[in-house]
Amino acid sequence: MTRQHKKKKDTLPKGMPEGAIVADLSKQVPNNSYDPPPLWYVDKDFVCIECGERETWTAAQQKWYYEEVKGTLYAIARRCHSCRIKIRRAKSIQREQMAASKKADRKH
Ligand SMILES: [Zn+2]
Repeated sequence: MTRQHKKKKDTLPKGMPEGAIVADLSKQVPNNSYDPPPLWYVDKDFVCIECGERETWTAAQQKWYYEEVKGTLYAIARRCHSCRIKIRRAKSIQREQMAASKKADRKH
């Protein structure tokens, strides 16, 4: 099988796999390393460190994370969606409790 992309626009980086999303390098946070920045994003499978579930970090999520949220290029998904929600909830409850206890202190 020959893989020729004569019809594709030549703006796409060479060797980009099918289904990948082109990265906008101007939006990425500069990385202070000798590793070249990713020119595209592809779906990545990972195993959640909390519950061991296998999940896919999609190319679209990576683009959003690196270019909109400005996440560092070293950050990778470690937890599945449901575990991230659990952690976020636990943190916001903690914050509420701390805020509540501060208010209580002020009343004294
Ligand atoms: Zn999980």
